[in-house]
Amino acid sequence: MSDEYEIKRNIPVQSPILPKELRPDSTFQFDCHKGIACFNACCKNIDITLTPYDIIRLKNRLGLDSKEFVGRYTAPFAMDHHNLPGLKMVTKPNMTECIHLTEEGCGVYEDRPAACRYYALGSMAIRKKESTRVDNIYFVVKEKHCLGHFEPREQTVANYRHEQGIEKYDEMNHEWYEIILKKRSSGPTVGAPSQRSLQMFDMCSYDMDSFAQFIQSSGFQSIFAVSEEETRMLLEDEEKLLQFSMRFLKQVLYGETTIPVREKARERRTSERKEVWTLRKKEAVREWREQQEEDKYREG
Ligand code: SF4
Ligand code: SF4
Repeated sequence: MSDEYEIKRNIPVQSPILPKELRPDSTFQFDCHKGIACFNACCKNIDITLTPYDIIRLKNRLGLDSKEFVGRYTAPFAMDHHNLPGLKMVTKPNMTECIHLTEEGCGVYEDRPAACRYYALGSMAIRKKESTRVDNIYFVVKEKHCLGHFEPREQTVANYRHEQGIEKYDEMNHEWYEIILKKRSSGPTVGAPSQRSLQMFDMCSYDMDSFAQFIQSSGFQSIFAVSEEETRMLLEDEEKLLQFSMRFLKQVLYGETTIPVREKARERRTSERKEVWTLRKKEAVREWREQQEEDKYREG
């Protein structure tokens, strides 16, 4: 894979990945069902990286806002050596078992993360050099505890993805994977991202509540030409808001302008800042003079 960039998505750290690369129409032998002897064994030793769409589904399922969900159910980690912020699903205290595992099985099944839906497939987003397109390739991940590989059912990758409801997750996370790949492939030539851009990545990826406030702020509105109607539509539909946040991120990180910028917005911001500074300076001088006068009387 020397001429390709890759991002591994849901391949367990110590899993023996079968070297065969699968495409959507490839078939593989696997089945998972409630009666199987290993039921939920895969949820007892987890290493799950959460995606932006996972966060939206899970926080809404649990009735929490983004910050509450992230604080209670995720653990931060660095996705690369520049500390690109990532989030892992937390386990139960002092255990390797997923926090959502119950006696009856997954407690958030209908909203389980993309990585859980994919297993026992691994997926990888790749982009070839000189290409802008991001493609997915797949692998079977065979781990000792998983008996599903001995079940007789043969199915295509496409069918498996459909049955597991993965298509929606991949669609919603596609641009996020593109952003990460782009950052990775830009390598050391571009240098380390600023603290501000890492904060932007964090908010746009994992905190839709703050992003919703951000697009209503006067700072955002004075720079970006987003109509009231479009803003309202984004605030009413979190999936659209997530897609918009990815466009915003691509614009601020890579200059891919898809959100119109108000004419002369930058010049206006600079002149507004100048006005504020002038006012502050005047105020400081006035305070200083008053203080001088007071001191004079006190001394007298
Ligand atoms: S979210 Fe559900 S399916 Fe995923 S590891 Fe936890 S219990 Fe298992
Ligand atoms: S068959 Fe594999 S994926 Fe299904 S419950 Fe067992 S260990 Fe988990």
